[in-house]
Amino acid sequence: MLAFAGCGVSEEARGAGLTDPNIEPLRKTKDEWRALLSAAAYNVLFEEGTERPFSSPLNAEKRDGTHLCAACLLPLFDARTKFESGTGWPSFYQPIEGRLGTQRDWRLVFPRTEYHYARCGGHQGHVFDDGPEPTGQRWCNNGVALQFVPAGEELPALRT
Ligand SMILES: [Zn+2]
Repeated sequence: MLAFAGCGVSEEARGAGLTDPNIEPLRKTKDEWRALLSAAAYNVLFEEGTERPFSSPLNAEKRDGTHLCAACLLPLFDARTKFESGTGWPSFYQPIEGRLGTQRDWRLVFPRTEYHYARCGGHQGHVFDDGPEPTGQRWCNNGVALQFVPAGEELPALRT
């Protein structure tokens, strides 16, 4: 097993949930990610940080488009599944299928289900069961861990 000390997810979790066979998992060291990302994005994605609520410009983003992983640029959420949760974090009722893995996070008294990008293992946020129809789920995401591409603009190539 390769060691990714402190990367925020276990090696078992990395790649778990990635069910699209056309997408290769992306493995980089913590130092490599630190060099590629802003300090805020690195902290959320690879140190399991949480951004301040109401701090992300994506809270107000209402256009059609695609939300990508800020680390590996894999599309994660279709903007049509975004909704206003009032929490101060961008929220979605459904991710693009096969793009996320989950694991229990026991750091609060009540366990939360943490989720991460299945391709690079970066931590994104937590999923709760108090979302709207049709799924009843609320994927509460750190905006700094996302990159938004409006509909009609070309998606960037996946990071390699
Ligand atoms: Zn990623």
